Amino acid sequence: MTETRARSVGNHIGGEVREAASGGWFENRSPTDGELLGLYARSGAEDVGRAVEKARAAFEGWRLYPAPKRGEILYRAGALMAERKEEFARAMSREMGKVLSEARGDVQEGIDMAFFAAGEGRRMLGDTVPAELPEKFAMSIRMPIGVVGLITPWNFPVAIPSWKSFPALVAGNTIVLKPAEDAPECARLFTQLLLDAGLPEGVFNTVFGLGEEAGAALVEHPGVAGVSFTGSTAVGVSIAREAHRTHKKVATEMGGKNAIILMDDADVDLAVEGAVWSAFGTAGQRCTAASRLIVHERVLDEFTEGLVRAANALKLGDPLDEGTDVGPLVNEEALRKVSGYVEVAKEEGATLLCGGERATEGDLSKGNFFRPTIWGGVDPGMRIAQEEIFGPAVCVIPVSSYEEAVRVNNGTPYGLSSAIYTRDVNTAFRAMRDLYTGINYVNAGTIGAEIQLPFGGTKATGGHREVGQQALDSFTEWKSIYVDYSGKLQ
Ligand code: NAD
Repeated sequence: MTETRARSVGNHIGGEVREAASGGWFENRSPTDGELLGLYARSGAEDVGRAVEKARAAFEGWRLYPAPKRGEILYRAGALMAERKEEFARAMSREMGKVLSEARGDVQEGIDMAFFAAGEGRRMLGDTVPAELPEKFAMSIRMPIGVVGLITPWNFPVAIPSWKSFPALVAGNTIVLKPAEDAPECARLFTQLLLDAGLPEGVFNTVFGLGEEAGAALVEHPGVAGVSFTGSTAVGVSIAREAHRTHKKVATEMGGKNAIILMDDADVDLAVEGAVWSAFGTAGQRCTAASRLIVHERVLDEFTEGLVRAANALKLGDPLDEGTDVGPLVNEEALRKVSGYVEVAKEEGATLLCGGERATEGDLSKGNFFRPTIWGGVDPGMRIAQEEIFGPAVCVIPVSSYEEAVRVNNGTPYGLSSAIYTRDVNTAFRAMRDLYTGINYVNAGTIGAEIQLPFGGTKATGGHREVGQQALDSFTEWKSIYVDYSGKLQ
């Protein structure tokens, strides 16, 4: 597509495609070579209001549509997503820079979630419990909350909308999605998929736009009953505050500063492999990316040498090329942020072991490529060891005991994922007890999730959970019901 013939994509509201009321658009550009991929509606409060109105009207029908039937539509969505997997994955690689193999994995998470949520339509368990009187019945059921606003990031542009939408839909809610500015095409494909799967008009609506415009309008709208957000902690905290002020149910999945611990009895080669992919997969732009490697001093040299060698061997390039290991950063702002941390590391006295700069050779100069970066001799209190960098950059922090490793792991504001490499089963079980994160890996890196277990973190990561049966908690309210069949005043 040439720049002059860029495709314009409108919002999907109530089954219709519409331009933004303002007539404005924003650009979607490839982070690989800067090509203009399309123009998307730059929506504001009026567009959000229209979408919420349609979603509210649709809620009255959808909540009464039996959950097993809702599940059947989600099952069809999962099957269609499997058919369109390659189309989704290619669009994703192109617009946000994830390499194709990872993009396929992202879509697979969506497929898995669709099938899991479809099954939930025939399960959605509540409790039946004994009542205090002989002719009384006591039970609890989940009820949908109404219109939910979903605000999603660009780094898992199919998985995260799926993780939120499918549980919300099977529970009987209707949706307004505000997807990330940097991955709108995946959201368009996702919306079309749901319509093709047979979702009634108005049940799922998508409003494109900027966070502080369309996103903020969605959070503020009085017709929205709940908000589920995934993104940075700074934005999530402000959304939670506004949602509480306007009495909305809110779930926030936010940042991470995840660590891999390497004990002195670890399989070092295995740990190098796990660390490389956890740190540099998706160019470090995963919420679960390992950005701290907490290494026992007895294996420090062997591990660091192996890590630097493996990082230097990674191939940067076009994410659509099957031979590429690491694609570009999502945008120029991300490039500036990571470069800024290289300066911070220098001031803090960390040792740069590799990377630390943009990659500009050949075609790489057209995109936002940054070399895999490793700092050694890092003190756990340094900013590079405390703040989420969200790029291909990792700190090596030496420690001399298990207790110190746990202290360092738990000593950041975040609590998403952590990992430990050890051959000692006792140490592994102690770590499962002691590491205060929502996800814990043993002898594997910090990344990768299966949708049948809850996903989320502690502290500044948010304290909410997605996927698994717990996913329903963000999209339902519990109702306790007492039925008196005695026919008399008790
Ligand atoms: P971001 O916070 O910049 O944006 C996320 C979404 O919020 C986007 O759709 C954006 O338009 C919207 N937004 C921005 N400002 C807003 C406002 N004032 N009101 C309403 N909406 C607003 O995050 P990002 O750069 O898209 O994603 C990266 C971040 O997401 C990282 O911090 C990463 O750790 C986090 N993340 C967390 C998880 C998790 O499950 N914990 C998963 C993936 C990503």
